[in-house]
Amino acid sequence: MDHISKLTRSQQRIAHLAKAALDDLWRKYSTLPPQQFQDLLLELLPALVDDYGKAAGSAAAQWYEETRAAVLNSEFRSRTQTANLDAVRGSVRWAGGDLFGKRRDLNLAHDKMSAIVQRHVRGAGRDTVLDSIKRDPAKPRWARRMQGRETCGWCRMLASRGFIYKTEETAGTAHAWGHDRCDCEAVPDFSFTEEQFTAQNVEVDHLYNQYLDVRSRIDSLAPTDAEIVAEWDRSMVNYREVRKQLSKERNGATLDGTLQQRDWDRRRLEVLTRLEREFPDGYIGTRRLPPRNPAQAPAGWPSDLPMLRAKEWNHALYGENLAGGHLYGYGWINDRPEFDATHTLEWLVAAAAKVTRDGMPVQGSKRLEGVVDGVTVHVSVAVRRGVARVTSIFPKT
Ligand SMILES: [Zn+2]
Ligand SMILES: [Zn+2]
Repeated sequence: MDHISKLTRSQQRIAHLAKAALDDLWRKYSTLPPQQFQDLLLELLPALVDDYGKAAGSAAAQWYEETRAAVLNSEFRSRTQTANLDAVRGSVRWAGGDLFGKRRDLNLAHDKMSAIVQRHVRGAGRDTVLDSIKRDPAKPRWARRMQGRETCGWCRMLASRGFIYKTEETAGTAHAWGHDRCDCEAVPDFSFTEEQFTAQNVEVDHLYNQYLDVRSRIDSLAPTDAEIVAEWDRSMVNYREVRKQLSKERNGATLDGTLQQRDWDRRRLEVLTRLEREFPDGYIGTRRLPPRNPAQAPAGWPSDLPMLRAKEWNHALYGENLAGGHLYGYGWINDRPEFDATHTLEWLVAAAAKVTRDGMPVQGSKRLEGVVDGVTVHVSVAVRRGVARVTSIFPKT
């Protein structure tokens, strides 16, 4: 096991023990009247966090000293940092809101308290490492390292820089450590061998390549960090979150009744599964997952033209049954040509209407072709049971 994993394991283990201690309290006392339970939690949780925070802090201190001693020929004493108990009390009071009244939700309160306990316990460990780095005369470089299910774009960007930080200021620490859903760790660059150093950097390289990829897509010579983070967030999909959405069965249909919610969700799950298999870390680049809800049939579609129903409109935009999917970001689904990023839904509706009205017939009269804003647009039209319908809209390759 490399030395960074050693730190992570020890911190995770202590946070886990703290969570188990909270669960114990919960089992024993959660049936008390809300006010009494809240008072008890306000008394016991700070003490619990203090204990486990000290354990996390001293494990981190020991880790820092040992790891450092293995590379450098000098003594250094880490100072164990402790959790900020006022902050813990404030958070517990806030989460305790879910114990009372109409919005009483014991499970929710438990989940929040559990997150608070673990965050503050790990905070003590991380503060110990940060404090050591700051005071260490060897001035080690260090990195912000993501753990587990990180979803924050700023953390991702800071982590992608690897071992370059010398001070907290250069690390952009205006972005808080340990914010909601963040379990980043500060790790000093004490590597034992070339091999281990390489191993550490594999993950950073992976992130940094994503950073470069994201950056190259922004149409600006000097994109700001905020622009990069926003584009990076757009390039990520949170599989767990989408799966949670999809686990709730939905009935109903589009307003025109041509596309069932259930079929849409099933189709979306197929696409999600493909993405997850190909891009397990959630970085999908310019590919897009179809939106949570299908598009409605365009409201402004002229009534004298062949009709454009929700079913075919969604087919053209997002694809289904091995065809369609021509909106920017969706061509990958069926390997079909895409419109550009600048071609919005509004543009597509207007362009399709124009071509349906004035286009040149090709392939008999099954398809119409026209040029809109320099783009050759094709519209397929079919007559079924005497009714003319648009069946797809796509750019010419
Ligand atoms: Zn973050
Ligand atoms: Zn983070």
